[in-house]
Amino acid sequence: MSCAELSAGIGHVWRLASQRVDRLDARFLLQHVSGCTLAELIAHPERELSAEQADRFDGLVSRREAGEPLAYLLGTAFFCGLEFAVSPAVLIPRPETEVLVEQSRRRVQELLQMRCQEQAQSRALACIAPRIVDLGTGSGIVAIMLARLCPTAELTAVDVSVAALYVARANAVRHGVQIRFLEGDWYASLGKERFDLIVSNPPYVADGDLHLQQDGLPFEPRLALSDGVVGGDGLGCIRTLIDGAKNHLFPGGWMFIEHGYDQAVQTRELLHAAGFTDVDSWCDGAAIERVSGGRQPPVNPRNFSKL
Ligand code: GLN
Repeated sequence: MSCAELSAGIGHVWRLASQRVDRLDARFLLQHVSGCTLAELIAHPERELSAEQADRFDGLVSRREAGEPLAYLLGTAFFCGLEFAVSPAVLIPRPETEVLVEQSRRRVQELLQMRCQEQAQSRALACIAPRIVDLGTGSGIVAIMLARLCPTAELTAVDVSVAALYVARANAVRHGVQIRFLEGDWYASLGKERFDLIVSNPPYVADGDLHLQQDGLPFEPRLALSDGVVGGDGLGCIRTLIDGAKNHLFPGGWMFIEHGYDQAVQTRELLHAAGFTDVDSWCDGAAIERVSGGRQPPVNPRNFSKL
């Protein structure tokens, strides 16, 4: 776009940009740069961008044209109806991850009900807060949603990427939740700690999958998308997570893992092989089995002293 075109009023600028990128994307970028609401864009198409705004807008439209995801250009994305900061250090939230949050929330709620009943029966002083860990938290969306939905839970969120933790911390502040953030590779930073729930949306796209070249994925952190095992099945991180779970779950504790569209059967097999019970998978909004999980066997009271 030439300088003259960019100074011809935001209505005109929007029309021109819509010839280069999706009209809605052009609108969001224009609102982002100009600070105008949609109503202002429509009611005052004659309003002009400053030279600096025009320059920035043109740059953002060019990046969008080159395939960079809108979320990175805007610096935010929505998940479960809330807005989260994102940067190229983190995966952009996907709606399918809502299944992971929903299953986790349900189990925590059940656990709380159970504990409150036990408390009422035993007249114990306090309900023990459910302990949840989100492994590979990225932008923090799963941990933050769980902290909001289960306010009595104690949340820990782990990531190997310092840059991702920076984004996740900012999101926790933005949404007013207390989360303990730890830097580390999967379980490495957790010592001997145990949890009631382990939740994860790990990298699971197989290294050679052509999908990694499409739909803006080349702009997302490869570390968050794929285990990097050349010729592998993409399940490397899922195996690590399932293998380590028994050392970090309380008896009766649950694990939920998001996985690829064709990995539910293998993930269930891995869970069974690791001694999980109640193994099952749950579908996302596209009716694809997207999350699998299971439960460590509850403690047998007679073996309690051996734990
Ligand atoms: N569901 C994402 C995708 O297809 C991948 C997310 C992940 O690897 N955790 O692109």
